[in-house]
Amino acid sequence: MSTATATGTLTPCPILIGGEWSTPKTATTTKVYNPSTGEVIAETPMCGVDVVDAAVRAADAASLDWAETPPVDRARVLFRYKMLLEDNFEELARSVTREHGKTMTEARGDVRRGIEVVEYACGAPELLKGEVLENVARGIDCDLIKQPVGICAGICPCNFPALVPMWMYPLALACGNTFILKPSERVPLTGIRLIELLQQAGLPKGVMNVVHGGRECVDAILQHPLVRAISFVGSSPVAKYIVETGTQHGKRVQAAGGAKNYVFVMPDADFDNSVKGLVDAAFGCAGQRCMAGSTAVTIGKAADKLLPDLSAAVRAITLGPTDRDPSATMGAMISPQHRDRVAGLLEGSVKEGAKLLVDGRGAKVPAYPNGFYLGASIVDHVAVGMTIAREEVFGPVLNVMRFEDLESAIEAANKVNFGNGACIYTQSGKAAREFRHRIKAGMVGVNVGVPAPLAYFPFSGWDYSFFGDLHLQGREGVMFYTRQKVTTWRWFRYGEGDVWHKEK
Ligand code: NAD
Repeated sequence: MSTATATGTLTPCPILIGGEWSTPKTATTTKVYNPSTGEVIAETPMCGVDVVDAAVRAADAASLDWAETPPVDRARVLFRYKMLLEDNFEELARSVTREHGKTMTEARGDVRRGIEVVEYACGAPELLKGEVLENVARGIDCDLIKQPVGICAGICPCNFPALVPMWMYPLALACGNTFILKPSERVPLTGIRLIELLQQAGLPKGVMNVVHGGRECVDAILQHPLVRAISFVGSSPVAKYIVETGTQHGKRVQAAGGAKNYVFVMPDADFDNSVKGLVDAAFGCAGQRCMAGSTAVTIGKAADKLLPDLSAAVRAITLGPTDRDPSATMGAMISPQHRDRVAGLLEGSVKEGAKLLVDGRGAKVPAYPNGFYLGASIVDHVAVGMTIAREEVFGPVLNVMRFEDLESAIEAANKVNFGNGACIYTQSGKAAREFRHRIKAGMVGVNVGVPAPLAYFPFSGWDYSFFGDLHLQGREGVMFYTRQKVTTWRWFRYGEGDVWHKEK
Protein backbone atom coordinates (compact mmCIF):
# COMPACT_ATOMS: atom_id res chain seq x y z
CA MET A 1 0.00 0.00 0.00
CA SER A 2 1.12 3.56 -0.69
CA THR A 3 3.03 5.88 1.59
CA ALA A 4 1.96 9.51 1.77
CA THR A 5 4.63 12.08 1.01
CA ALA A 6 5.20 15.72 1.89
CA THR A 7 6.04 17.95 -1.05
CA GLY A 8 5.86 21.67 -1.76
CA THR A 9 4.59 24.41 0.51
CA LEU A 10 2.03 23.58 3.14
CA THR A 11 -1.24 25.53 3.18
CA PRO A 12 -1.57 27.48 6.46
CA CYS A 13 -4.07 26.15 8.96
CA PRO A 14 -4.75 29.03 11.39
CA ILE A 15 -7.26 29.42 14.20
CA LEU A 16 -9.61 32.43 14.44
CA ILE A 17 -10.13 34.13 17.77
CA GLY A 18 -11.82 37.49 18.22
CA GLY A 19 -11.55 38.29 14.50
CA GLU A 20 -7.79 37.58 14.25
CA TRP A 21 -6.26 34.59 12.46
CA SER A 22 -3.13 33.15 14.06
CA THR A 23 -1.05 30.00 14.35
CA PRO A 24 -1.33 28.54 17.84
CA LYS A 25 1.74 27.28 19.64
CA THR A 26 0.64 23.68 20.01
CA ALA A 27 2.83 20.71 20.79
CA THR A 28 1.36 18.44 18.14
CA THR A 29 -0.05 18.65 14.63
CA THR A 30 -1.99 16.25 12.39
CA LYS A 31 -1.10 15.87 8.73
CA VAL A 32 -3.70 16.84 6.14
CA TYR A 33 -3.41 14.91 2.86
CA ASN A 34 -4.57 15.32 -0.66
CA PRO A 35 -6.05 11.80 -0.79
CA SER A 36 -5.98 11.80 -4.60
CA THR A 37 -2.19 12.07 -4.69
CA GLY A 38 -1.06 11.14 -1.19
CA GLU A 39 0.75 14.50 -0.74
CA VAL A 40 0.76 16.26 2.61
CA ILE A 41 -0.88 19.64 2.01
CA ALA A 42 -1.20 21.11 5.51
CA GLU A 43 -0.71 20.43 9.20
CA THR A 44 -3.57 20.90 11.63
CA PRO A 45 -2.61 22.32 15.02
CA MET A 46 -4.11 20.15 17.74
CA CYS A 47 -5.52 22.76 20.13
CA GLY A 48 -6.26 22.17 23.79
CA VAL A 49 -8.00 23.85 26.72
CA ASP A 50 -6.20 27.22 26.47
CA VAL A 51 -7.10 27.87 22.83
CA VAL A 52 -10.70 26.74 23.33
CA ASP A 53 -11.00 28.98 26.38
CA ALA A 54 -9.67 31.98 24.42
CA ALA A 55 -12.16 31.28 21.61
CA VAL A 56 -15.07 30.97 24.03
CA ARG A 57 -14.12 34.21 25.77
CA ALA A 58 -13.98 36.03 22.43
CA ALA A 59 -17.42 34.63 21.57
CA ASP A 60 -18.69 35.69 24.98
CA ALA A 61 -17.44 39.26 24.51
CA ALA A 62 -19.29 39.50 21.17
CA SER A 63 -22.47 37.76 22.37
CA LEU A 64 -24.58 40.59 23.74
CA ASP A 65 -24.17 42.93 20.80
CA TRP A 66 -24.84 40.22 18.21
CA ALA A 67 -27.91 38.99 20.11
CA GLU A 68 -29.23 42.58 20.16
CA THR A 69 -28.57 43.07 16.43
CA PRO A 70 -31.97 43.05 14.70
CA PRO A 71 -32.62 39.78 12.83
CA VAL A 72 -32.96 41.73 9.57
CA ASP A 73 -29.41 43.08 9.97
CA ARG A 74 -28.08 39.64 10.81
CA ALA A 75 -29.82 38.38 7.66
CA ARG A 76 -28.14 41.11 5.60
CA VAL A 77 -24.72 39.74 6.60
CA LEU A 78 -25.89 36.32 5.43
CA PHE A 79 -27.21 37.70 2.12
CA ARG A 80 -23.77 39.22 1.46
CA TYR A 81 -22.21 35.93 2.53
CA LYS A 82 -24.37 33.99 0.07
CA MET A 83 -23.12 36.23 -2.77
CA LEU A 84 -19.49 35.73 -1.72
CA LEU A 85 -20.01 31.97 -1.61
CA GLU A 86 -21.38 32.09 -5.17
CA ASP A 87 -18.45 34.25 -6.33
CA ASN A 88 -15.99 31.77 -4.83
CA PHE A 89 -17.98 28.63 -5.59
CA GLU A 90 -15.48 26.90 -7.86
CA GLU A 91 -12.53 27.67 -5.58
CA LEU A 92 -14.43 26.19 -2.61
CA ALA A 93 -15.28 23.05 -4.58
CA ARG A 94 -11.61 22.66 -5.53
CA SER A 95 -10.65 22.97 -1.89
CA VAL A 96 -13.14 20.20 -0.97
CA THR A 97 -11.74 17.88 -3.65
CA ARG A 98 -8.17 18.71 -2.69
CA GLU A 99 -8.47 17.82 0.98
CA HIS A 100 -11.18 15.14 0.80
CA GLY A 101 -10.59 13.35 -2.52
CA LYS A 102 -14.21 13.31 -3.72
CA THR A 103 -14.95 14.22 -7.35
CA MET A 104 -15.40 17.82 -8.46
CA THR A 105 -19.08 17.13 -9.19
CA GLU A 106 -19.55 15.81 -5.66
CA ALA A 107 -17.54 18.70 -4.23
CA ARG A 108 -19.78 21.19 -6.03
CA GLY A 109 -22.77 19.39 -4.48
CA ASP A 110 -21.10 19.65 -1.05
CA VAL A 111 -20.79 23.45 -1.43
CA ARG A 112 -24.20 23.93 -3.09
CA ARG A 113 -26.08 22.11 -0.34
CA GLY A 114 -24.27 24.27 2.22
CA ILE A 115 -25.24 27.46 0.37
CA GLU A 116 -28.86 26.32 0.53
CA VAL A 117 -28.66 26.40 4.32
CA VAL A 118 -27.33 29.96 4.13
CA GLU A 119 -30.27 30.87 1.89
CA TYR A 120 -32.65 29.38 4.44
CA ALA A 121 -30.93 31.27 7.27
CA CYS A 122 -31.37 34.53 5.29
CA GLY A 123 -35.03 34.23 6.28
CA ALA A 124 -34.10 34.99 9.91
CA PRO A 125 -36.81 37.63 10.50
CA GLU A 126 -39.48 35.20 9.33
CA LEU A 127 -37.95 32.16 11.05
CA LEU A 128 -37.67 33.97 14.37
CA LYS A 129 -41.23 35.21 14.54
CA GLY A 130 -43.02 34.07 17.64
CA GLU A 131 -46.64 33.23 18.49
CA VAL A 132 -49.35 35.09 20.33
CA LEU A 133 -52.82 34.34 21.62
CA GLU A 134 -55.04 37.11 22.88
CA ASN A 135 -57.41 36.33 25.79
CA VAL A 136 -55.97 33.05 27.08
CA ALA A 137 -58.27 34.12 29.92
CA ARG A 138 -60.39 37.27 30.04
CA GLY A 139 -58.04 40.27 29.76
CA ILE A 140 -54.94 38.06 29.66
CA ASP A 141 -52.72 37.58 26.59
CA CYS A 142 -49.92 35.10 26.07
CA ASP A 143 -47.00 35.22 23.66
CA LEU A 144 -43.92 33.24 22.77
CA ILE A 145 -40.65 34.77 21.62
CA LYS A 146 -37.46 33.05 20.46
CA GLN A 147 -34.18 34.26 21.94
CA PRO A 148 -30.60 33.16 21.21
CA VAL A 149 -29.12 30.32 23.27
CA GLY A 150 -25.72 32.04 23.65
CA ILE A 151 -22.38 30.51 22.69
CA CYS A 152 -22.77 27.50 20.38
CA ALA A 153 -20.12 25.12 19.05
CA GLY A 154 -19.95 22.86 16.00
CA ILE A 155 -17.80 19.72 15.76
CA CYS A 156 -17.52 18.36 12.21
CA PRO A 157 -16.64 15.12 10.41
CA CYS A 158 -14.22 14.58 7.52
CA ASN A 159 -16.64 13.68 4.74
CA PHE A 160 -18.43 16.98 3.96
CA PRO A 161 -15.88 19.77 4.54
CA ALA A 162 -18.29 22.48 3.31
CA LEU A 163 -21.82 21.21 3.91
CA VAL A 164 -21.58 20.02 7.49
CA PRO A 165 -20.08 23.24 8.92
CA MET A 166 -22.80 25.10 6.99
CA TRP A 167 -25.48 22.86 8.50
CA MET A 168 -24.50 24.53 11.75
CA TYR A 169 -23.21 28.11 11.90
CA PRO A 170 -25.46 29.95 9.38
CA LEU A 171 -28.60 29.12 11.35
CA ALA A 172 -26.89 29.56 14.71
CA LEU A 173 -25.72 33.05 13.69
CA ALA A 174 -29.08 33.95 12.14
CA CYS A 175 -30.67 33.14 15.49
CA GLY A 176 -28.35 35.59 17.27
CA ASN A 177 -25.77 33.20 18.75
CA THR A 178 -22.00 33.39 18.64
CA PHE A 179 -20.11 30.34 17.44
CA ILE A 180 -16.97 28.19 17.81
CA LEU A 181 -16.34 25.95 14.79
CA LYS A 182 -14.10 22.91 15.00
CA PRO A 183 -13.70 21.44 11.51
CA SER A 184 -12.43 17.89 11.16
CA GLU A 185 -8.70 17.86 11.78
CA ARG A 186 -8.44 15.79 8.57
CA VAL A 187 -10.14 18.42 6.33
CA PRO A 188 -9.75 21.83 8.01
CA LEU A 189 -8.93 24.01 4.98
CA THR A 190 -12.35 24.46 3.36
CA GLY A 191 -13.85 25.43 6.74
CA ILE A 192 -11.18 28.12 7.16
CA ARG A 193 -11.96 29.55 3.71
CA LEU A 194 -15.69 29.52 4.45
CA ILE A 195 -15.13 31.59 7.56
CA GLU A 196 -12.75 34.04 5.82
CA LEU A 197 -15.62 34.77 3.44
CA LEU A 198 -17.99 35.21 6.37
CA GLN A 199 -15.63 37.86 7.75
CA GLN A 200 -15.62 39.58 4.36
CA ALA A 201 -19.42 39.63 4.50
CA GLY A 202 -19.14 41.91 7.52
CA LEU A 203 -19.66 39.62 10.49
CA PRO A 204 -18.50 41.47 13.62
CA LYS A 205 -15.29 40.27 15.28
CA GLY A 206 -15.66 37.47 17.81
CA VAL A 207 -19.09 36.33 16.60
CA MET A 208 -17.41 33.44 14.75
CA ASN A 209 -14.30 31.67 16.00
CA VAL A 210 -12.39 28.65 14.68
CA VAL A 211 -10.33 26.11 16.62
CA HIS A 212 -8.73 22.86 15.48
CA GLY A 213 -7.94 19.53 17.06
CA GLY A 214 -9.17 16.15 18.16
CA ARG A 215 -10.41 14.67 21.40
CA GLU A 216 -8.61 17.09 23.74
CA CYS A 217 -10.07 20.06 21.87
CA VAL A 218 -13.55 18.49 21.79
CA ASP A 219 -13.42 17.71 25.51
CA ALA A 220 -12.49 21.32 26.24
CA ILE A 221 -15.58 22.45 24.30
CA LEU A 222 -17.82 19.87 26.01
CA GLN A 223 -16.69 20.94 29.45
CA HIS A 224 -16.50 24.71 29.03
CA PRO A 225 -19.08 26.31 31.33
CA LEU A 226 -19.88 29.17 28.90
CA VAL A 227 -20.72 26.95 25.91
CA ARG A 228 -24.51 26.49 25.84
CA ALA A 229 -25.21 24.31 22.80
CA ILE A 230 -23.21 21.80 20.75
CA SER A 231 -23.88 20.49 17.25
CA PHE A 232 -21.96 17.37 16.29
CA VAL A 233 -21.78 15.25 13.14
CA GLY A 234 -19.55 12.17 12.96
CA SER A 235 -19.45 8.47 13.79
CA SER A 236 -22.03 6.99 16.17
CA PRO A 237 -19.72 6.00 19.07
CA VAL A 238 -18.36 9.56 19.18
CA ALA A 239 -21.86 11.05 18.74
CA LYS A 240 -23.05 9.06 21.75
CA TYR A 241 -20.05 10.22 23.79
CA ILE A 242 -20.67 13.84 22.79
CA VAL A 243 -24.31 13.73 23.88
CA GLU A 244 -23.58 11.96 27.14
CA THR A 245 -20.69 14.25 28.10
CA GLY A 246 -22.26 17.47 26.80
CA THR A 247 -25.56 16.93 28.60
CA GLN A 248 -23.72 15.99 31.80
CA HIS A 249 -22.19 19.44 31.58
CA GLY A 250 -25.61 21.06 31.16
CA LYS A 251 -25.50 21.70 27.43
CA ARG A 252 -28.08 21.30 24.72
CA VAL A 253 -26.68 18.77 22.21
CA GLN A 254 -27.64 17.48 18.76
CA ALA A 255 -25.39 14.70 17.44
CA ALA A 256 -25.80 13.01 14.07
CA GLY A 257 -23.99 9.66 13.78
CA GLY A 258 -23.22 6.89 11.32
CA ALA A 259 -25.55 4.84 9.18
CA LYS A 260 -26.41 1.66 7.33
CA ASN A 261 -28.91 2.55 4.63
CA TYR A 262 -31.02 0.03 2.72
CA VAL A 263 -32.11 0.37 -0.89
CA PHE A 264 -35.05 -1.96 -1.56
CA VAL A 265 -35.58 -3.11 -5.15
CA MET A 266 -38.94 -4.75 -5.88
CA PRO A 267 -39.39 -7.11 -8.87
CA ASP A 268 -41.64 -4.49 -10.54
CA ALA A 269 -39.06 -1.68 -10.28
CA ASP A 270 -37.90 0.38 -13.24
CA PHE A 271 -34.51 -1.32 -13.46
CA ASP A 272 -32.69 1.37 -15.46
CA ASN A 273 -33.64 3.91 -12.81
CA SER A 274 -32.73 1.47 -10.00
CA VAL A 275 -29.28 0.75 -11.45
CA LYS A 276 -28.50 4.42 -11.85
CA GLY A 277 -29.86 5.22 -8.39
CA LEU A 278 -27.89 2.39 -6.75
CA VAL A 279 -24.60 3.35 -8.41
CA ASP A 280 -25.00 6.97 -7.25
CA ALA A 281 -26.18 5.96 -3.79
CA ALA A 282 -23.53 3.36 -3.10
CA PHE A 283 -20.48 4.84 -4.82
CA GLY A 284 -21.01 8.63 -4.65
CA CYS A 285 -18.18 10.13 -2.56
CA ALA A 286 -16.62 6.63 -2.73
CA GLY A 287 -19.33 5.52 -0.30
CA GLN A 288 -18.06 7.90 2.39
CA ARG A 289 -21.48 9.36 3.15
CA CYS A 290 -23.90 8.95 6.00
CA MET A 291 -26.58 8.66 3.32
CA ALA A 292 -24.73 6.06 1.23
CA GLY A 293 -27.14 3.40 -0.03
CA SER A 294 -24.76 0.66 1.04
CA THR A 295 -27.09 -2.36 0.85
CA ALA A 296 -29.31 -3.39 -2.05
CA VAL A 297 -32.21 -5.41 -0.65
CA THR A 298 -33.64 -7.38 -3.54
CA ILE A 299 -37.09 -8.93 -3.34
CA GLY A 300 -38.12 -12.06 -5.25
CA LYS A 301 -36.46 -12.23 -8.67
CA ALA A 302 -35.26 -8.59 -8.58
CA ALA A 303 -31.61 -9.64 -8.05
CA ASP A 304 -31.51 -11.63 -11.31
CA LYS A 305 -32.87 -8.68 -13.25
CA LEU A 306 -30.73 -6.09 -11.49
CA LEU A 307 -27.27 -7.58 -11.11
CA PRO A 308 -26.03 -7.96 -14.72
CA ASP A 309 -26.52 -4.27 -15.55
CA LEU A 310 -25.51 -3.15 -12.08
CA SER A 311 -22.23 -5.13 -12.21
CA ALA A 312 -21.44 -3.69 -15.65
CA ALA A 313 -22.10 -0.14 -14.42
CA VAL A 314 -19.90 -0.69 -11.36
CA ARG A 315 -17.07 -2.16 -13.43
CA ALA A 316 -17.23 0.96 -15.61
CA ILE A 317 -16.47 3.28 -12.65
CA THR A 318 -13.04 4.87 -13.13
CA LEU A 319 -10.82 6.16 -10.36
CA GLY A 320 -8.78 9.33 -10.27
CA PRO A 321 -8.33 12.93 -9.11
CA THR A 322 -11.13 14.74 -10.93
CA ASP A 323 -9.60 18.19 -10.40
CA ARG A 324 -6.77 16.98 -12.66
CA ASP A 325 -8.52 14.26 -14.68
CA PRO A 326 -12.19 15.10 -15.33
CA SER A 327 -12.82 11.70 -16.96
CA ALA A 328 -12.59 9.88 -13.60
CA THR A 329 -15.94 9.03 -11.99
CA MET A 330 -14.91 8.11 -8.44
CA GLY A 331 -12.41 9.70 -6.09
CA ALA A 332 -10.12 8.48 -3.32
CA MET A 333 -10.68 7.36 0.27
CA ILE A 334 -9.97 9.79 3.10
CA SER A 335 -6.89 7.89 4.41
CA PRO A 336 -4.82 4.77 3.73
CA GLN A 337 -5.90 3.38 7.11
CA HIS A 338 -9.56 3.74 6.24
CA ARG A 339 -9.00 2.22 2.77
CA ASP A 340 -7.29 -0.79 4.38
CA ARG A 341 -10.12 -1.16 6.90
CA VAL A 342 -12.71 -1.31 4.10
CA ALA A 343 -10.56 -3.78 2.13
CA GLY A 344 -10.39 -5.88 5.33
CA LEU A 345 -14.20 -5.86 5.63
CA LEU A 346 -14.43 -7.16 2.05
CA GLU A 347 -12.03 -9.98 2.85
CA GLY A 348 -13.96 -10.79 6.05
CA SER A 349 -17.26 -10.94 4.16
CA VAL A 350 -15.91 -13.68 1.90
CA LYS A 351 -14.73 -15.66 4.94
CA GLU A 352 -18.23 -15.33 6.40
CA GLY A 353 -19.78 -16.83 3.23
CA ALA A 354 -20.61 -13.83 0.99
CA LYS A 355 -19.57 -13.72 -2.67
CA LEU A 356 -17.52 -10.89 -4.21
CA LEU A 357 -19.35 -10.20 -7.45
CA VAL A 358 -17.15 -7.19 -8.30
CA ASP A 359 -13.82 -6.92 -6.48
CA GLY A 360 -12.31 -3.42 -6.53
CA ARG A 361 -9.32 -4.17 -4.34
CA GLY A 362 -6.82 -4.41 -7.18
CA ALA A 363 -7.83 -1.13 -8.84
CA LYS A 364 -4.93 1.22 -9.53
CA VAL A 365 -4.45 4.79 -10.73
CA PRO A 366 -1.02 4.55 -12.41
CA ALA A 367 -0.49 8.32 -12.62
CA TYR A 368 -1.10 8.68 -8.86
CA PRO A 369 0.33 5.54 -7.22
CA ASN A 370 0.35 7.18 -3.78
CA GLY A 371 -3.34 8.16 -3.84
CA PHE A 372 -5.64 6.41 -1.37
CA TYR A 373 -7.75 4.57 -3.95
CA LEU A 374 -10.00 1.58 -3.59
CA GLY A 375 -12.09 0.35 -6.52
CA ALA A 376 -15.86 -0.16 -6.38
CA SER A 377 -17.03 -3.58 -5.13
CA ILE A 378 -20.29 -5.53 -4.97
CA VAL A 379 -20.70 -8.21 -2.31
CA ASP A 380 -23.52 -10.61 -3.12
CA HIS A 381 -25.35 -13.08 -0.85
CA VAL A 382 -24.75 -11.00 2.27
CA ALA A 383 -26.73 -12.50 5.14
CA VAL A 384 -28.18 -10.93 8.27
CA GLY A 385 -25.63 -11.18 11.07
CA MET A 386 -22.47 -10.97 8.90
CA THR A 387 -20.07 -8.24 10.02
CA ILE A 388 -20.41 -6.40 6.72
CA ALA A 389 -24.22 -6.43 7.13
CA ARG A 390 -24.04 -4.89 10.62
CA GLU A 391 -21.19 -2.36 10.58
CA GLU A 392 -21.07 0.94 8.75
CA VAL A 393 -18.58 0.28 5.91
CA PHE A 394 -18.18 3.92 4.76
CA GLY A 395 -16.50 2.92 1.53
CA PRO A 396 -17.19 2.00 -2.13
CA VAL A 397 -18.96 -1.26 -1.34
CA LEU A 398 -22.50 -2.33 -2.17
CA ASN A 399 -23.89 -5.32 -0.28
CA VAL A 400 -26.65 -7.36 -1.92
CA MET A 401 -29.14 -9.14 0.34
CA ARG A 402 -31.88 -11.33 -1.15
CA PHE A 403 -35.35 -11.85 0.32
CA GLU A 404 -38.45 -13.75 -0.75
CA ASP A 405 -40.90 -10.99 0.09
CA LEU A 406 -41.20 -7.39 1.26
CA GLU A 407 -42.39 -8.47 4.71
CA SER A 408 -39.24 -10.44 5.61
CA ALA A 409 -36.97 -7.79 4.04
CA ILE A 410 -38.45 -4.99 6.16
CA GLU A 411 -38.20 -7.18 9.25
CA ALA A 412 -34.49 -7.83 8.60
CA ALA A 413 -33.69 -4.19 7.76
CA ASN A 414 -35.41 -3.00 10.92
CA LYS A 415 -33.12 -5.16 13.09
CA VAL A 416 -30.10 -2.98 12.29
CA ASN A 417 -29.57 -0.46 15.06
CA PHE A 418 -28.85 2.50 12.71
CA GLY A 419 -31.86 4.45 11.39
CA ASN A 420 -30.68 7.16 9.01
CA GLY A 421 -32.07 6.55 5.50
CA ALA A 422 -33.81 3.93 3.39
CA CYS A 423 -35.41 3.88 -0.02
CA ILE A 424 -37.46 1.68 -2.28
CA TYR A 425 -37.65 1.23 -6.06
CA THR A 426 -41.07 0.00 -7.12
CA GLN A 427 -44.00 0.84 -9.36
CA SER A 428 -46.46 -0.31 -6.72
CA GLY A 429 -47.94 2.47 -4.58
CA LYS A 430 -49.09 -0.21 -2.18
CA ALA A 431 -45.56 -1.58 -1.65
CA ALA A 432 -44.15 1.97 -1.36
CA ARG A 433 -46.73 2.91 1.24
CA GLU A 434 -46.14 -0.24 3.29
CA PHE A 435 -42.38 0.42 3.13
CA ARG A 436 -42.69 4.09 4.11
CA HIS A 437 -44.97 3.22 6.99
CA ARG A 438 -42.94 0.37 8.48
CA ILE A 439 -39.27 1.03 7.73
CA LYS A 440 -37.27 2.13 10.77
CA ALA A 441 -35.43 5.14 9.30
CA GLY A 442 -35.83 8.88 9.56
CA MET A 443 -35.25 9.76 5.87
CA VAL A 444 -37.08 7.73 3.25
CA GLY A 445 -36.92 7.77 -0.56
CA VAL A 446 -39.36 6.34 -3.11
CA ASN A 447 -37.75 5.79 -6.52
CA VAL A 448 -34.90 8.14 -5.54
CA GLY A 449 -31.51 6.97 -4.35
CA VAL A 450 -30.14 9.01 -1.48
CA PRO A 451 -32.97 10.93 0.13
CA ALA A 452 -30.89 13.61 1.89
CA PRO A 453 -33.44 16.31 2.78
CA LEU A 454 -32.92 19.90 1.66
CA ALA A 455 -32.13 22.81 3.98
CA TYR A 456 -35.74 23.56 4.95
CA PHE A 457 -36.41 20.03 6.29
CA PRO A 458 -34.69 18.42 9.25
CA PHE A 459 -31.89 15.92 8.64
CA SER A 460 -33.90 13.45 10.62
CA GLY A 461 -31.90 10.32 11.49
CA TRP A 462 -33.25 7.90 14.11
CA ASP A 463 -31.86 5.50 16.73
CA TYR A 464 -28.10 4.85 16.56
CA SER A 465 -27.86 7.43 13.74
CA PHE A 466 -28.95 10.39 15.86
CA PHE A 467 -28.60 11.38 19.52
CA GLY A 468 -30.54 14.29 20.98
CA ASP A 469 -33.99 15.72 20.34
CA LEU A 470 -33.77 18.46 17.72
CA HIS A 471 -32.15 17.63 14.36
CA LEU A 472 -29.95 19.83 12.18
CA GLN A 473 -31.52 22.03 9.47
CA GLY A 474 -35.02 23.40 8.96
CA ARG A 475 -37.33 24.48 11.76
CA GLU A 476 -35.80 21.95 14.16
CA GLY A 477 -32.49 23.72 13.58
CA VAL A 478 -34.10 27.05 14.50
CA MET A 479 -35.60 25.45 17.62
CA PHE A 480 -32.19 24.06 18.57
CA TYR A 481 -30.46 27.42 18.30
CA THR A 482 -33.13 29.39 20.18
CA ARG A 483 -34.76 29.38 23.58
CA GLN A 484 -38.44 30.04 23.81
CA LYS A 485 -39.83 32.49 26.29
CA VAL A 486 -43.55 32.53 27.00
CA THR A 487 -44.96 35.67 28.60
CA THR A 488 -48.42 35.95 30.09
CA TRP A 489 -49.64 39.55 30.16
CA ARG A 490 -52.48 40.97 32.21
CA TRP A 491 -53.56 44.54 31.72
CA PHE A 492 -56.72 45.64 33.47
CA ARG A 493 -59.34 46.84 31.07
CA TYR A 494 -59.32 50.43 30.01
CA GLY A 495 -62.05 52.29 31.85
CA GLU A 496 -63.16 55.33 33.69
CA GLY A 497 -60.11 55.54 35.93
CA ASP A 498 -57.78 55.80 32.93
CA VAL A 499 -57.06 59.48 32.40
CA TRP A 500 -53.68 59.36 30.61
CA HIS A 501 -55.15 60.69 27.38
CA LYS A 502 -56.32 63.80 29.21
CA GLU A 503 -52.89 64.64 30.61
CA LYS A 504 -51.14 67.64 29.12
P1 NAD B 1 -15.40 10.87 13.61
O1 NAD B 1 -16.44 10.47 14.58
O2 NAD B 1 -14.11 10.12 13.62
O3 NAD B 1 -14.99 12.41 13.85
C1 NAD B 1 -15.94 13.42 13.91
C2 NAD B 1 -15.44 14.55 14.81
O4 NAD B 1 -15.29 14.05 16.14
C3 NAD B 1 -14.10 15.13 14.40
O5 NAD B 1 -14.16 16.52 14.49
C4 NAD B 1 -13.11 14.54 15.39
O6 NAD B 1 -12.06 15.42 15.69
C5 NAD B 1 -13.96 14.29 16.62
N1 NAD B 1 -13.57 13.09 17.37
C6 NAD B 1 -13.12 11.92 16.86
N2 NAD B 1 -12.91 11.03 17.84
C7 NAD B 1 -13.25 11.65 18.99
C8 NAD B 1 -13.25 11.25 20.36
N3 NAD B 1 -12.87 10.04 20.74
N4 NAD B 1 -13.66 12.16 21.28
C9 NAD B 1 -14.07 13.39 20.93
N5 NAD B 1 -14.08 13.82 19.64
C10 NAD B 1 -13.67 12.96 18.70
O7 NAD B 1 -16.08 10.85 12.17
P2 NAD B 1 -15.38 11.01 10.74
O8 NAD B 1 -14.65 9.76 10.41
O9 NAD B 1 -14.66 12.29 10.68
O10 NAD B 1 -16.69 11.11 9.81
C11 NAD B 1 -17.34 9.99 9.30
C12 NAD B 1 -18.53 9.59 10.16
O11 NAD B 1 -19.46 10.67 10.22
C13 NAD B 1 -19.31 8.43 9.53
O12 NAD B 1 -19.70 7.56 10.56
C14 NAD B 1 -20.51 9.11 8.90
O13 NAD B 1 -21.64 8.29 8.72
C15 NAD B 1 -20.76 10.20 9.89
N6 NAD B 1 -21.57 11.28 9.31
C16 NAD B 1 -22.86 11.37 9.68
C17 NAD B 1 -23.69 12.34 9.11
C18 NAD B 1 -25.13 12.42 9.52
O14 NAD B 1 -25.79 13.39 9.16
N7 NAD B 1 -25.67 11.47 10.25
C19 NAD B 1 -23.17 13.23 8.17
C20 NAD B 1 -21.82 13.11 7.81
C21 NAD B 1 -21.02 12.13 8.41
